[in-house]
Formats: sequence, structure tokens, C-alpha cells
Amino acid sequence: MKERYAARAAAVPVFAGKDTAVRIATKAIRVGQNPDPATGSIAVPVYQSVNFVFDDVGQPRGYEYSRSANPTRTALEECLASLEEAKHGLAFGSGMAAVDAVGSILRPGDHVVSAEHIYGGTFRLFEKVYVPRGVSFTYVDGTRAEAFAEALKPNTKMIWIETPANPLLQLVDVRAVGAIARKHGAALVADNTFPSPYFQRPLTQGADIVMHSTTKYVSGHSDVIGGAVLTNDDRLHEQLKFYQNAAGAVPGPWDCWLSLRGLKTLAVRMRQHAANAQAVAEFLAAHPKVRETIYPGLPSHPQHALARTQMDGFGAIVTFRLDGGREQVSRFVRALRIFLFAESLGGVESLVCHPTTMSHAVMTAQERERVGITEGTLRLSVGIEDIEDLLEDLAGALADC
Ligand SMILES: *Cc1c(COP(=O)(O)O)cnc(C)c1O
Repeated sequence: MKERYAARAAAVPVFAGKDTAVRIATKAIRVGQNPDPATGSIAVPVYQSVNFVFDDVGQPRGYEYSRSANPTRTALEECLASLEEAKHGLAFGSGMAAVDAVGSILRPGDHVVSAEHIYGGTFRLFEKVYVPRGVSFTYVDGTRAEAFAEALKPNTKMIWIETPANPLLQLVDVRAVGAIARKHGAALVADNTFPSPYFQRPLTQGADIVMHSTTKYVSGHSDVIGGAVLTNDDRLHEQLKFYQNAAGAVPGPWDCWLSLRGLKTLAVRMRQHAANAQAVAEFLAAHPKVRETIYPGLPSHPQHALARTQMDGFGAIVTFRLDGGREQVSRFVRALRIFLFAESLGGVESLVCHPTTMSHAVMTAQERERVGITEGTLRLSVGIEDIEDLLEDLAGALADC
């Protein structure tokens, strides 16, 4: 029986994904996901095993212990690396574990220049965990590339950006900031969660490290928490891989499998997400009850031109403002039938979030005021439902609020 499997597996054509010039939708489906050598299984098996047998003294077959490496995780890591055009990929148990792995390369006395508009959890890790350990941070307006250069110090080791940023969708010019980082010898890290690798690949534009919350578009179905770090730099990769094994915040094989399953449809999902988001943004921009609509795909977005050169699509987060206060927001969200009132983003279902009381509740009212997050600000994660249903839902709720 076993010999039969082995003979068949040998006949399975092997797809040298990483080295083959295929396009992004094909990579998502094939790279790292050759038929299982033991059985020919088309779907990557869930290798739910802690340990792997050795053939002889000092002779493992490639895997030993699943914290260090697991075949289902390897499949996900190879696939994600190829999508970001990276040499190396590492998967983590959450997006925050991925942020922390990147942060592990900082030492007491090091300085980081960060865009001021970043994920709240990232800001919390920086301020509440790294600052007490002796790392210092300067936060700058990410829309001005020169602001990063102005904030550099001799001990600046890292520049941290997120583009487009949450929730007001400011962009950072990756190429310009990449040149600033390179000149100074600092590592540029880009949180690429919002656009996903389908719409933006910062490693090709001057970033040294890309990180993801794979919880969002990469997995795409609101059913798994995960993170990833990608790089072309061998030395950085060795450091990050050492930390992954040493600190151990690895995803289990089932979570890797769910992420891989989600990833297969990344291209079709992202195309539909973006088409729906563009229609939603245009609808809101023309609506009399909406004061302002923010979406990089609208010509009214102050960085629309940069979005066109830096991204292959504008993503599916649309932020808008109602004139009224909390009462009106409450009437609006209660009147919605399709959009679900919840945190997070990037799943197939459409969501609406109220940053003031949800994702950005940890900020003080003055901090929110300063960065422009008002009571009437609402953030949509536009899903892939029928666009007519989404527009009818928004029209109905706006009429009722
Ligand atoms: C969600 C998110 C994170 C954190 O990821 P988790 O998977 O929730 O730990 C980091 N950055 C961005 C931009 C996010 O949206």
C-alpha cells in the first residue's frame, strides 16, 4: 500500500512555484501547495502532529517538532512569501504576534520613527511594552515623507508605516520613505494588512519587512486569527525565525489550513471587494446626508494620485462622516440589515464599525479629535455580497437616520 502511494506521488508533477514566473492568482492557489508526496492529496493535509520521526541518529526527515516547523505551516509561509514577492515568510498566531516578532529586533536605546496613524494594538505594544524596555518612538504625519527624515536620530533603527491607515485611509509614499530608510540604514517595516498583497507589495517598493494580520483579507472569512512576516533579507529572516521558535507564538496547523483555504480565493475576493467598495464610495459621496466620504479610489481623496501609482487597486475600506452625533449614528447602525455592526474587517461579509466607541475607544477624546476621528465617523468593511443589496441597505438606513 505504502509503496503504491510512493510510486504515485513520484508521478505527480511538482510545481516549482517560487521560481516560476506565474501571476498572483495562480500563486495563491499553487505555491507551497504541491500534491502531498505521500498520498497525492490535492488539498494540503492538516499535519496535526507535534513531533516527527527520525530515520537515524542526527537524521530527521526535515521536520522535528511543530513549534520549530510544521508542514502545513510551511505551505502557508511559502505561499504568503511568493504573494509578497519575498524570499522568506513566517506565520504567527496573530497579527500582533507578527508585530512583536518584528519588534524583537529592537534593543534598549534604539529609536523608531512611526507613522502616527497605525493600528491601535500596534501603538499599545509600542507604548506599553517596548517603551518600558527602553525603546523610544517618534510619531509623525505619514502623509509627508519628509516628516520621517526630519525625525531620524543617530539611533533610529526602524521606520514603521501602515498604508492605507486605519480608519481615515491616509497613504504613506513607500518608495520615498524607503529611500529615506535606506540612506539612514534603518529598516522600513510596512503593515500591509489593509490592501493585502493583491493590491500592494511594499517589498518591491523599498520596504525591508512586510507584516500582515492574516486575520483580515488573507484569510478572508472572519474565522481565524493569524499573522505573517515577509522579507528578502537573509539576516533579518534568520533573526525573526530564531525569535519565532524561541518565543513560540506559532499558529496551529488547522489555523494555517484555514488561512490557506481562504488564500486560494484572494484574487477573486479582492477584485469583488474593490468593485463593491468603489460603488459604495461613489454612492455615499453623492448622498446629501453624508458630510464626507474617504476612499483612495475617489478623485477627491487627497492622495488619489499616489494610490494610483503605488497600489493595484484601492481596497475595500470606506470611511464616511454623518453630520449628527451619537444619536444619529445609533439610528443608522440599527437600521442596517445587511451590514453587520462589528469590529474587524477583511471578511466576505460587509461590516460597519464606529471607531469612536470601538476600534479607537482606547484613545482619549482629545487624541481622537486631533487625528480627525469624530463622533459621526463610520468605517465600512465592504464585503462581496450583491452590490444592489449593499446600496439598498445603505440608502434605507440613511433615510431612517
Ligand atoms: C487587525 C490588525 C492588526 C492586528 O492583528 P490581529 O490578527 O488582530 O492580532 C494589525 N494591523 C492591522 C492593520 C490590523 O488591521
